[in-house]
Amino acid sequence: MGKTTSPLQLKFVTSAIDAHDLPFTRAEVAMVGRSNVGKSSLINALANHRQLAHVSTTPGRTQLLNLFEQPDGPTVMDLPGYGYAKVPEKIRGSWQAMIEGYLLGRENLVTIFTLVDGEIGPTKLDVGLLEWVRHHELPIQIVATKLDKVKPSKLGVRKQELATGCGVDVASVVWVSADKGTGIDELRAMIRRAGSR
Ligand code: GDP
Repeated sequence: MGKTTSPLQLKFVTSAIDAHDLPFTRAEVAMVGRSNVGKSSLINALANHRQLAHVSTTPGRTQLLNLFEQPDGPTVMDLPGYGYAKVPEKIRGSWQAMIEGYLLGRENLVTIFTLVDGEIGPTKLDVGLLEWVRHHELPIQIVATKLDKVKPSKLGVRKQELATGCGVDVASVVWVSADKGTGIDELRAMIRRAGSR
């Protein structure tokens, strides 16, 4: 396995509630998505590490800005999952403020990897986030998760639907499966490349 596709050597740095409390980093990528999209599983797969990011049995528990560093690539921000239905409105608002504050305030942010569930496609909340990100002209890359849950016979149509729903070109979406390992090497390489820009 080449250097570009070897596991990300992610090391936890710190957690913060406020982006202002984070240390300076030279280049950073962020991973964002709604609760249960498969973000923790994906980060663990990228690092080839089972428990780096906590795979939640109760989505919505890990609600902090979690920063990871690596020796040969950008720092990686694991943003709290948004839109968990059982969370009270008031707390939901503060999560949104935390995520938006981070995304707008982090100057060294090179790419926002936005996760969308490949099986169910973009939800209203996903579309809302994408519109907000575009409005602020932030750098985005769509990642469709849980590829293994889509029937091969439906994949062509599903890929087109997901891309259209997200307002991007079908070829620009990276499809991954944390369970099967599909697309993980490609995403590792993209993350490393993002840091060298
Ligand atoms: P998070 O809330 O975004 O961090 O999502 P998790 O990583 O905790 O995953 C949510 C659920 O989706 C869990 O039950 C995972 O086992 C499942 N899941 C995550 N990634 C995949 C995948 O690639 N394939 C399948 N089939 N299930 C997945």
